Order: sequence, then C-alpha cells, then structure tokens
Amino acid sequence: MTQTPIVIVGGGIAGLACARTLYDAGRSFVMITERLGGRIYAESGMSWGAKYITKDYHEVRKFCDDGLAIRIRDVYFETVNGPFSLFRRGGLKNFPKLMNVLRDVACLRCELLKFRKQARGECQKHVLQDYPLIQRWMKLPAKDYVAQQGLCELHEKFIHPILRATFFVTVEEVNTLFYLSALFPTWVCAYEADFTETLSKLGQGFGNQIWYDRVMTIGQEGGCFYVQTPKERFEAEAVVLATPVKVVEKLLTGVIPRVVPQRMQEVVLRTNPFGVYSEEPFHESSVCVLAVEGERKPIYEHARIVMTARDEPVLCLWKNRDGSDTVYVKGSLSTSAADPSILENGKYETELKPQFESLKKYYSNFKIRKAVHWRSAITISGPSWHCLNPQENLFVIGDHNICGLEDSFLTGQYAANVLLHKAEPCLKKCEESL
Ligand SMILES: Cc1cc2nc3c(=O)[nH]c(=O)nc-3n(C[C@H](O)[C@H](O)[C@H](O)COP(=O)(O)OP(=O)(O)OC[C@H]3O[C@@H](n4cnc5c(N)ncnc54)[C@H](O)[C@@H]3O)c2cc1C
Repeated sequence: MTQTPIVIVGGGIAGLACARTLYDAGRSFVMITERLGGRIYAESGMSWGAKYITKDYHEVRKFCDDGLAIRIRDVYFETVNGPFSLFRRGGLKNFPKLMNVLRDVACLRCELLKFRKQARGECQKHVLQDYPLIQRWMKLPAKDYVAQQGLCELHEKFIHPILRATFFVTVEEVNTLFYLSALFPTWVCAYEADFTETLSKLGQGFGNQIWYDRVMTIGQEGGCFYVQTPKERFEAEAVVLATPVKVVEKLLTGVIPRVVPQRMQEVVLRTNPFGVYSEEPFHESSVCVLAVEGERKPIYEHARIVMTARDEPVLCLWKNRDGSDTVYVKGSLSTSAADPSILENGKYETELKPQFESLKKYYSNFKIRKAVHWRSAITISGPSWHCLNPQENLFVIGDHNICGLEDSFLTGQYAANVLLHKAEPCLKKCEESL
C-alpha cells in the first residue's frame, strides 16, 4: 500500500495541468494513468487525437507549438458537384446569414474568454451563473437554433460538414453552445498544433511521480480515499479524477456489478456515494483516425482539408506536411477494448470495409498505414453541467462540461488551486446558485 496526500487519476491534459500546478507549488502527489497525454496523442509528427488550437488557447499554447495556420480558404466542402470552397464564385451566396451566425460566434467567444478567466479559480458550473447567454445556448438544441435563424441551406452546405469533421456529430446531437463553438476556427486564428514537445514540457520534473496502471475502483474508508489498481492500493487525503466520463461513472460506482440491468444502474448512479452524476446528461462521440498514403483524385488534389456533408463514413480528409492524409471516419475497430484501440499494418479492407470503400471516391490509389479508434472522442454535454468538486477533497475534472483542450486544462488548474487553498472549494454550492 502507498500513502500519498493526493492521487491524480488520468494523465491527459486535465490531469497534467493539475499535476503541473501542484508540482510548481511544491506539493506532493502521485499520478496514476494508463497512458500519458490521453487524447493529445502525437507520434512521428502526426496527431492522432486533438489537432487544432485557436489563438484563444492561452494556457495550452504555453506547452505546444502553433503549427501551420488553418485558413478558411484551405477548407473545401463536398457537394454533389465536387468539392467547393467558400471563396469560389457563388460560395458566399449565403453571406448575410453567415454574418448573423458569426455575430453569435463572436458574442460567444467574448463570453467564453471572460468565463475562462474565472474558471481557473471557480467550479465551471458555479461560474456559469454569471453567463446567461452561455446558459441559454446550452439549453437550446442546435436544430432549433438552425430553424429559428433560417439557416437550412447554410447549415447543410457549410456548418454540418464542420460539425461532423470537428465534433463527429450531427446537429440533432448537440446544443447551440457546441454548434457555435465548432465555428470558432472560422472567426479566431486557428492552428494545426504541434504536440510533439507537449508531454515533456508539461510533465517536466515529476516523471518519477507517474505510475502507469489502470485504476479499478475508488472508495472512501476511515476518512480517506483509497484508489485500487491491479497491482497496488493507494491511500490519499484527496483524489482528482481526470478520466473520460464513462470511466468516471465506472470508477465511482465500482461496487455495482457490471451485469445489473440498465434501469438498476441508473438508480444506483443516482444514489452513488459521491453523488457526482445525478442526471444522465452526457454522451460521447467516437471516431476512427486513419493515416492514409496515396494519390488523391484530381478534383481533390489541391484541397488541404476536405469536409464531407453526406451520411457517408468519411468525415474529413486533412493533408499533412509529409504528403500523407489524416482521415476521420465513422466506425470502430474490433482489435481491443483499450481506448484508443490501434491497428497497424492490419487488414483494413476487412476490418474497415465500408470506410475503405468510401475512400475510393477520393483516391485513385491509396494505402491505410495505421488506424486509431477513440471510443471516447468528444464529450457531448447536455443542458446541465456537473460540479467539479462535489465533495471535500474529491475532484472530477476534464472535458465533461465543455469539450476541448483549453477548458480541460483550466479544470485541472481549478482542482490544483483548491488543493493549494488559492481557490474556494465548490462542494456543490454551484447547484444552489443555478
Ligand atoms: C480525434 C480527436 C480529435 C480532437 N480534436 C480536438 C481539437 O482539434 N481541439 C481541441 O481542443 N480538442 C480536440 N479534441 C478533444 C480533446 O482532445 C479533449 O477534450 C481533451 O484532450 C480531454 O482531455 P482530458 O485530460 O480531460 O481527457 P483524456 O485526454 O482522455 O485523458 C484521460 C486520461 O485518463 C487515462 N485513463 C482512463 N481510464 C483510466 C483508468 N481506469 N485508470 C488510469 N488512467 C485512466 C487515460 O489513459 C488518459 O491518459 C479531440 C479529441 C479527439 C479524440
């Protein structure tokens, strides 16, 4: 058994931000994680998880390099007549409607910038009470926003492909907050981030405090927390849980046998000892990321980014600097239960048959070099958010309320700041205030 003041479970950007802040303040902790980096998984200069950042990612940009700028003229939208750019003749036909949407994007950006300044020192849900506009958009289903603004044509041609390419969802699956945030790269400078140095920069100095293992359960006994892995039991005064939503649900309800029926599970979830998820507001979108080498067909040859609109498995093609493409497709791999599951030099023609067939439309010849499947790619939060600090010394951080690197990072800083007595604990006060 190992005793330590703080255990951080999960070494993605949220857990690492927490660890970095604690380490810089001289506090001891142990981080237990299956893989370092989580969804910022970069290898040989290629990003298999998060890909772009914007100028507004003030914290994240301290730890990664702004790569190539993403310009709207680099993006082509697939239509029945082939790929089309907004800058081609007829592309800006919907200009007035587009300006209305971009005005809302600009307002949201203003609010979010202020929101983020507060979120470093307060629970996101608590901060939310000061932002009625964000609240309104998170309660408004995106499809209602599209109808109210009369956006049908603009949505089909332009926004729907962006939503599919960035959040891997359709308009029916998100609220207006997600819908408008998908458009940030059209309004704010965005870059294809280079995360090659990120893990070494963020994790510098505390490599010996990282324990590579899978946490099985978390519980409370005699006034302290225990964290159980297959090899070790840790006892701690505080636990910071920085894993995807589905893992949080499992870990905090580790006592529930897997086989209990769904309805029962919901009852138990509602009464789980930590009371973290009292409602069922989440789902996660999944995606397969492929490295494709080959020759694009002439009409697609010059487009750096191609976003597709129809219900085919291919969501987006993105040209890399080495000439290969990163391709996002719907679908999953059967290789392993790990997240992400990875297939190298496999039988892609059989494993990813519909995806393979769809790719023939874009390439004269091609080869898939590697496939990475994320079961938990993007967390789609619903109309209510969750408390980051539901109980004394217990934190649940990450992208559960707002998805994306910068906001995940800030949740890590918030947890650390409470532990360092630089911020107020929330202890569900956020629920009374809303
Ligand atoms: C394909 C893809 C593209 C994306 N594109 C963008 C983008 O362009 N821009 C952007 O801002 N965001 C993007 N995102 C979202 C962004 O990556 C996430 O919001 C963010 O990385 C979440 O960070 P996190 O630390 O909360 O979670 P994660 O990065 O998922 O980290 C969780 C950590 O917990 C560990 N873990 C899980 N279970 C256990 C367990 N039982 N025991 C121990 N450890 C465990 C994992 O190994 C991992 O290290 C993208 C995501 C994906 C998948």
